Amino acid sequence: MTDDPLPHLQRVFGFPAFRGVQADVVDRVLAGERTLAVMPTGAGKSLCYQLPSVMMEGTCVVVSPLIALMHDQLRAAEAVGIRAATLTSVDENRAETIDRFKAGQLDLLYIAPERASTGHFRELLSQAKLSLFAIDEAHCVSEWGHDFRPDYRLLEPLMDAFPDVGRLALTATADAHTRADICKQLGIPADGMIVSGFDRPNIRYAISPRANTSKQIADIIADQPGPGIVYAQTRAATEKLAEALGRTGRPTRAYHAGLDPRVRARNQADFVASEDMVICATVAFGMGIDKPDVRFVAHAGLPKSIEAYYQETGRAGRDGDPAIAHLFWGAEDFARARQRIGEVESERQPGERTRLAALGALVETAGCRRRILLKHFGEDRLEDCGNCDNCLGNPDAVDATETARKFLSAVFRTGQMFGAGYVEQVLLGQSTERSLMNGHETLSVWAIAEGDEVALIKPVGRALLLRDALRTNAHGGLEFGPGARGILKGDDRVTLVVPPKRERRSRRAPAV
Ligand code: ADP
Ligand code: ZN
Repeated sequence: MTDDPLPHLQRVFGFPAFRGVQADVVDRVLAGERTLAVMPTGAGKSLCYQLPSVMMEGTCVVVSPLIALMHDQLRAAEAVGIRAATLTSVDENRAETIDRFKAGQLDLLYIAPERASTGHFRELLSQAKLSLFAIDEAHCVSEWGHDFRPDYRLLEPLMDAFPDVGRLALTATADAHTRADICKQLGIPADGMIVSGFDRPNIRYAISPRANTSKQIADIIADQPGPGIVYAQTRAATEKLAEALGRTGRPTRAYHAGLDPRVRARNQADFVASEDMVICATVAFGMGIDKPDVRFVAHAGLPKSIEAYYQETGRAGRDGDPAIAHLFWGAEDFARARQRIGEVESERQPGERTRLAALGALVETAGCRRRILLKHFGEDRLEDCGNCDNCLGNPDAVDATETARKFLSAVFRTGQMFGAGYVEQVLLGQSTERSLMNGHETLSVWAIAEGDEVALIKPVGRALLLRDALRTNAHGGLEFGPGARGILKGDDRVTLVVPPKRERRSRRAPAV
């Protein structure tokens, strides 16, 4: 195939030029070379198979994990005149699609990975001419990825039955380990990987502990014009936040899978059309939505992983104009994540723990957030970015190990059964009826926090929970976790960030 793709790009999509690594990926696909393209959200992955699909003879089979996403893609492809169809359980025109496929009338056929396992589907594929296999969200094939789907493992044997058909795997989110695994699982040579730059310089990252989420986010909204997405962890939380934020006078909507489909579709459409709406959603929202002017994304709780954080924040500022990503986290998010890890199969636990530790490092750092993010994706930056909360606020890091030891001692001396608030009162020597009754005022740890330490007690409690030095028991009492020993013995130090003074200016995305 020696056809030049550029005129086709202009003719089919009306784009004057390729962006970033698109040209390299398309060249490899047209040459029939198996390829893994790692490109951040918004970099234009779909074009990498859509364009070849109209240039090559036969149909490109696209594997995609979400039906809603497929239908969005289908609409977008049809809008530019690409002959495309989806073959999923919800499509009523399946018979017609199969006829079109066999007759060679489709450029793209989108399928869900479950189909790949059926002999029936393999049989169907052998009855038409295929141009390419495109595997979207390819990290789903890897147990190292953050979203493993066993059905993806069936794709390689399926593709092996068609050895002459090229393969293009695509993902926005894969660390080095996962990338290598994707190649292995999908039969792509290690040198068939094309990785585009991950930096999104127009997004400002800001991460802080959670105090009163709806107030914290309302403060952001007051300062920040333009459309925004607020991610909450549960359906109920999206509705509560939408209601609370609506009181700021800003138009707000909730979005989650439990809403009536019509309401959901309307809320999404309203958001896409609006220039100042805030949508409070669960993380599924945003996939496949083409809204380039989102000015801020706020996480009301800890995301699942750095990959997920990067992907979700990446929905801001796709137009290249300044945007800001806020994350509010609490120690209980880490406790809950750890509990979830305890429930997954034991082979997956070490990977999940590493993932959580990476998130912990990102939220706790006093250094440049972007450097940590990019390093996670294999890009080593020598310089600070100048566009994250830490770079802008110059926070100080203080060694709080002594205070942490006092905190742990107080937990121990009071019998590992009281909550953080009580432990704090003991350290401060705040006498209450309860402390009197418990006889805690005679303990050696009573009132041992002094001077500057007083302000450190709350953040130290959070840091200890984050490190699994403390755990919360079923009654809300604190008890020692595996991380306590190293701190008490003096092997591990606890460094804390003293938060920068928040200037109003630093919350707002800078003017262009
Ligand atoms: P991804 O799947 O990587 O998140 P998309 O495929 O959804 O990204 O593309 C993001 C946006 O960029 C879409 O609006 C798409 O039309 C646009 N786009 C893709 N390639 C180009 C290009 N070469 N020139 C201009 N716009 C492009
Ligand atoms: Zn920075």
